[in-house]
Amino acid sequence: MLNLLDLSYDELEQVLRGLNQPKYRVSQLYDALVLYKEPNKITNIPKSLIDILSNQYIFLPLKIYKSITSKDGTTKFLYKLKDGNLIEGVLMKYKYGNTLCVSTQVGCRMGCKFCASTLGGLIRNLTNGEILAQVLCVNAYLEGTRDKRQITNVVLMGSGEPLDNYNNVIKFLRCVADKRGIGISQRNISLSTCGLVDKIDQLKEENLQITLTISLHAPNDQIRKQIMPIANKYSIKEIIDSSKRYFIKTKRRIVFEYALIEGKNDSYDCADELSTLMRGFSNHVNLIPLNEVKERGLKGTTKHRAYAFMERLKEHNVSATIRRTMGEDIEGACGQLRAKVLSDIQ
Ligand code: SAH
Repeated sequence: MLNLLDLSYDELEQVLRGLNQPKYRVSQLYDALVLYKEPNKITNIPKSLIDILSNQYIFLPLKIYKSITSKDGTTKFLYKLKDGNLIEGVLMKYKYGNTLCVSTQVGCRMGCKFCASTLGGLIRNLTNGEILAQVLCVNAYLEGTRDKRQITNVVLMGSGEPLDNYNNVIKFLRCVADKRGIGISQRNISLSTCGLVDKIDQLKEENLQITLTISLHAPNDQIRKQIMPIANKYSIKEIIDSSKRYFIKTKRRIVFEYALIEGKNDSYDCADELSTLMRGFSNHVNLIPLNEVKERGLKGTTKHRAYAFMERLKEHNVSATIRRTMGEDIEGACGQLRAKVLSDIQ
């Protein structure tokens, strides 16, 4: 069965027109969907119409299955999809608002050595409605509405490779920013990719205002190939060239993610090499202390060394920060909670 949330506002309008409904029903129904209401709680729409739609469409494609809140207020959600698959999300509270990290696939096929999301490979793509439902469901969980949004920022950094699920992700980006819906500004959305060059080139033509974040994690192909299999397909030079093209077209600063792994990519030489790559366009390096994943056997760099690495970048005039670690005590890194729950269940 299709999800109602897979439909854009305009597509929903067509469906309701086909059912001979007055025009105002569209916004009534879309408002109810944005509030993530159970169909039997939608009281301003005739029950007969709700019944017709329920026979053809799923209203709520996922439910919160489990949530854990850490000492710093970060909440990790595990959602259950209609087919029983589990996906996860993380809610981070900042002074300026709440950021929700959403998943784009069940599992992932990119195989990065440090990432728990990819341990069981790719199970399936999420539909655009299933990605949107994560935002709406948590907004409703926090008692947010459309006018008083509780989710102000979205990052596509949960499990999955967003550009490996291109069409659904693009439709999600348009729907989540639609002012007739939850209306989250595209400027408050970051899409993180391991660097699928062809897709980055396609993305720059979509006329979106989102921030492109690239998971680089290495200053040269030799190191990158050891930790990211995708490096065998695209070289760092190709990735940097495509991000420069993206910057020229969109004028949006590119963010590079760099997880510091002890003895692998955290030397001064690496910092120097990375600085060379960052020359000539607007960018920022986000240094991430590696969240250690038991199954992976890679160790995070010490705090001291991470600071030294950042200072070295700054000496080369590279804009860089160390990302605050949040939710460490609740297995906050990609795929960790799902991996844990799955192994507990099995
Ligand atoms: N597939 C996309 C988005 C998902 S991962 C991508 O590769 O960007 C979101 C970010 O978390 C990526 O930068 C990823 O490399 C990073 N990440 C994954 N596992 C991690 C871990 N154990 N510790 C720190 N960062 C991790």
